[in-house]
Amino acid sequence: MSLKIYNTLTRQIDELIPGGVKQDKPEDYPAITIYSCGPTVYSYAHIGNFRTFIFNDFLRRYLKFRGFSVNHAMNITDVDDKTIKGSIEEGISLSQYTEKYTEIFYEDLKALSIEDVEHNPKATESVDEMINILKKIDANGMLYEKEGSLYFNIAKFPGYGKLSMLDKREIKSGVSFDADEYEKEDVRDFALWKAPRENEPFWETPYGPGRPGWHIECSAMIRKIFGTTIDIHTGGVDLIFPHHENEIAQSEAAYGETFVRHWIHTEHLLVDGTKMSKSAGNFYTLRDLLAKGYSPRSIRYLLMSAHYKKQLNFTLEGITQADQALERIDNFILRLNDRKNTTGENSEVDAITSALIRDFSETVDNDLNISGGLGVFFEFIHKVNSMISEDKISQKDAEKIIGTVKRLDQVFGFVFSAAEEESDADRERIDALVNERIEAKKSKQFARADEIRDILKNEGIILEDTKDGTRWKRKK
Ligand code: AMP
Ligand code: ZN
Repeated sequence: MSLKIYNTLTRQIDELIPGGVKQDKPEDYPAITIYSCGPTVYSYAHIGNFRTFIFNDFLRRYLKFRGFSVNHAMNITDVDDKTIKGSIEEGISLSQYTEKYTEIFYEDLKALSIEDVEHNPKATESVDEMINILKKIDANGMLYEKEGSLYFNIAKFPGYGKLSMLDKREIKSGVSFDADEYEKEDVRDFALWKAPRENEPFWETPYGPGRPGWHIECSAMIRKIFGTTIDIHTGGVDLIFPHHENEIAQSEAAYGETFVRHWIHTEHLLVDGTKMSKSAGNFYTLRDLLAKGYSPRSIRYLLMSAHYKKQLNFTLEGITQADQALERIDNFILRLNDRKNTTGENSEVDAITSALIRDFSETVDNDLNISGGLGVFFEFIHKVNSMISEDKISQKDAEKIIGTVKRLDQVFGFVFSAAEEESDADRERIDALVNERIEAKKSKQFARADEIRDILKNEGIILEDTKDGTRWKRKK
């Protein structure tokens, strides 16, 4: 079984071969080096951005689940056209401005159960490495200076356009361009380093003072952390051109070796058929949705459950559907927990749990088909629910099944959220209150029963009467 993922560079589904040399088992490979373009911290990230960040997290978790180890970096873009503009408008320093949004971004990642990665470099802390790259590109004759700025001469780099499939005729070299972001119609020499402007922050370099263009930042952070060719580079499809095309040009022009083996790009989150974006004004931040009463867990589920190469149209109805899917999972776990004190062992359970892991992996190995993988999981839930109804699942069987679901949740991150897991002491205390309420009702002490209901309600605990008795769950 091998893991195959679409590679934007080769335009085909390629086997993932970390380090470039095929090995027998995932454990035999060196740690997979991954770089994900991180947020530009000029404002709150919107949930379109989080679709991409949740995908990065899913990719990382799935690689680990499959037995690979990972060495993952996601940067913070804390100097570019947008951050500079924002700090000037607010009349505060660039670092004061970007620190605020960086902090907010990390809080949002945590809320969405996105794992910490091994490295979070900041662009402003990597300027020395940018200067190294500039010197190398210069030595290789691919940059020129104009009015205090440095530009990359794309005509001198033969591979220019290989990622975004540019038609050579479109390339207008010799025409330079300052903006960090531009369209394919403007394939031009891009700014590596920008001359200082009034009120803008700048750094001293052997080429004179100035500040980095956006593209060189990622090239420099990758070089600084990994030192050589990396296995995977990710980002949204909007970054293919010009950002990633320019990263390749700079890094390969400087060091003469392959920059990245496998390029993975996520499709956009749309609203009414248009990309969710700050500039279109059609966006929700995570906080907007939390304020409307939606849970981060349902948002994670929704954004993660669509295949990364398919556009996803965002609706509030979509979050409600995600909620319903999660409720099915929660009820399944509750039913398994209810098997306490039942004896015996069903020999079928080992077979169905291993089939679950096998079928899930086989499905997701095929270009990270998470929607198919969730389908496998829901079929399993359906089957086990029937077995529970037929009284074929004992406490021991239920424990095994929960153990298997926990393994899958290392990938999902939405079944058992660490923050929401009850401590044993809490569970015992709540069980005792629930039992006391049942007894109070039996002995017609309704005031006490209501009091307990209110105590539990205040803690966000919902009571449900089922044919097997009263059970409780925490509102998530
Ligand atoms: P930015 O902070 O603008 O640099 O974007 C951070 C990440 O979000 C990049 O990888 C973008 O490609 C990605 N992104 C931006 N808009 C969307 C969207 N509507 N859907 C999915 N990803 C997006
Ligand atoms: Zn980048």
